[in-house]
Amino acid sequence: MDTENKYGEPMTVLQQVQQRGGHLLPQWQAEHIDGYTLFPQSEPDVAGQMLQGLEYLASADYLDKLFFDRLSVCPSCGSHHVNVREACSSCKSSHISPVSLLHHFRCGYVAPAETFVHNGKGRICPKCHGHLTDLGTDHDIPGENFTCHSCHASFQVPEVEGLCMNCQTRTPGDQLLHKDIHSFRLNSLGMAALSNGRLYDQEEELLLEGDGHPIYRKHVFMFLLEDEMRRAKRYGTAFSLIMIKLATADDTETERLVFHMAENLRNSDKIGRYTEDRLLLLLPATDKAGADIWLRRFIAGAGAALQAHVIDLNQEGDVASQLAEQSWNT
Ligand SMILES: [Zn+2]
Ligand SMILES: [Zn+2]
Ligand SMILES: [Zn+2]
Repeated sequence: MDTENKYGEPMTVLQQVQQRGGHLLPQWQAEHIDGYTLFPQSEPDVAGQMLQGLEYLASADYLDKLFFDRLSVCPSCGSHHVNVREACSSCKSSHISPVSLLHHFRCGYVAPAETFVHNGKGRICPKCHGHLTDLGTDHDIPGENFTCHSCHASFQVPEVEGLCMNCQTRTPGDQLLHKDIHSFRLNSLGMAALSNGRLYDQEEELLLEGDGHPIYRKHVFMFLLEDEMRRAKRYGTAFSLIMIKLATADDTETERLVFHMAENLRNSDKIGRYTEDRLLLLLPATDKAGADIWLRRFIAGAGAALQAHVIDLNQEGDVASQLAEQSWNT
């Protein structure tokens, strides 16, 4: 860590998180480049140093980094001041309005409702001059169209467009960038470091979670996993990864489950922490079919409700983002 970074000193930052209730939540700040800030009272360079401290503490598992919000960002200047709105598909003007349509069954004519003039008894079809009297029997409302007041185009689906209020760049909705904003929450390792008055420096303290659980801490497990992926790529060996969602936040139940798991694993298999309620299981030299069989047997013998599945890893891709996707899906 940068020695000049005095505000980002890990123990100072941990104390800050504790003083703010143990969970540092982003606060909306429109003029800030990110739209959110974690340190509204601090100067930008101080806040930047403290953010570095937070990222370091999260990477070393003293804090949990949690998804908070997703911003739409201008790809040209990075500003979050993007006005996202619906626009005409031909001329891109945002001066558009929805128009409801009518469909006359007898002649099949479909047009905006306002073109079917009312004569006191009912609407008149502009094409066949027949009467529209009973909705559902002689006509229906097939939906909405949009009309553009600038070019008079008529279309079913408007385009979504982002207009940057900072640099005026116009970007189609599907090409806007997204930036995830996170909160940071003290976890058990962070609390332990606070009461110890220091971060852990012993390797064995750092590798496994406390209380005799044979669970590797997240950063250690990710390192082991990446190592396994490298090996698989180089030598073509198989390995499998299982994600397990713990049903309860009950520590005793988790402990029972983890010991049951450990009993059913080989020495080379590894249990790792992914989030507070999710564990990962690394099974070297095991293909998907083998992992499925193991998992079915394990769930049957676990005596507790739990969700688990074998992860389909793309070994060419980035493992962290693939795991993040998996955890949304379950
Ligand atoms: Zn238009
Ligand atoms: Zn008609
Ligand atoms: Zn911009």
